[in-house]
Amino acid sequence: MELTSAKAVKEIQNRFGFTFKKGLGQNFLTSSEILERIADAAESEGIIEIGPGFGALTQRLAARAEKVAAIEIDERLIDVLGFTLSGLDNVTLIQGDILKIDLPELIRSEFCDMRVSVAANLPYYITTPVIARLLEERLPLENIVVMVQREVADRLCAKPGSKDYGAISVLCGYFSEPEVIAKAPASLFVPPPKVDSAVVRLKMLEEPSVSVSDEGLFFKTVRAAFSQRRKTLLNCLCSFFGIPKDELREIGDEAEIDLSRRGETLSLAEFAALSDGLYNKTK
Ligand code: SAM
Repeated sequence: MELTSAKAVKEIQNRFGFTFKKGLGQNFLTSSEILERIADAAESEGIIEIGPGFGALTQRLAARAEKVAAIEIDERLIDVLGFTLSGLDNVTLIQGDILKIDLPELIRSEFCDMRVSVAANLPYYITTPVIARLLEERLPLENIVVMVQREVADRLCAKPGSKDYGAISVLCGYFSEPEVIAKAPASLFVPPPKVDSAVVRLKMLEEPSVSVSDEGLFFKTVRAAFSQRRKTLLNCLCSFFGIPKDELREIGDEAEIDLSRRGETLSLAEFAALSDGLYNKTK
């Protein structure tokens, strides 16, 4: 059953008495072109879909992949999906919360030796925690392909020195090659959200893009550097770590980083050098 028109969405709504829950980020995408782009970019044999909704993306993923595991929090949608996905025997529906589900176990049990990617038109209220979780848990993923708010897409892909560059940009650049692969105006969704959207593909790297002595300290250093955007690195690091300024200046000199700069100007390699300097001083 084709689900990519406002009319088709209305028909399903009427059939199941379904009303959208704004709190669950239920804005369904009705552009078959963009749904195809997401499904093409996900590429792998095994796909984890977050938030299948009525199943418009799930149908396209199931046509390409060997297996799809779709995780949907809204119990009301499980019946709807049983109807819209009937006949697709390579889809497993899981009712649950993507932030709570045991993903390493899901990957082991559902996908065995398959290569796995994540695809989603993400519910926008949990975009950052979902992406942070997928990256930080070091799941064996090939690609993460997600529709997000356009400003968030800019942040995920931002380069040093730009206004959008922040801790999440460093996280994405550390684990992946991020790229915006499509743009989607609000009018393509039912109901239309207040903001435009974009699809980002994070192509996961085999190894992180820079090597560091202590990954936990690296991410703490990044958090410290962006904790007060208008302050210098020296002030941010001093108040975050409680290390005296003259010691920090020495660390900065050894790492060849001028601590009067602001965090948003540092490349990943410079963050790595700084956190390794802190590591050597504090170990
Ligand atoms: N995939 C559909 C599409 O592309 O049209 C629907 C996308 S809609 C933006 C987001 C979906 O995520 C909704 O179906 C919503 O119920 C579901 N959702 C919201 N929070 C969730 C969570 N914590 N875990 C899993 N699914 C969630």
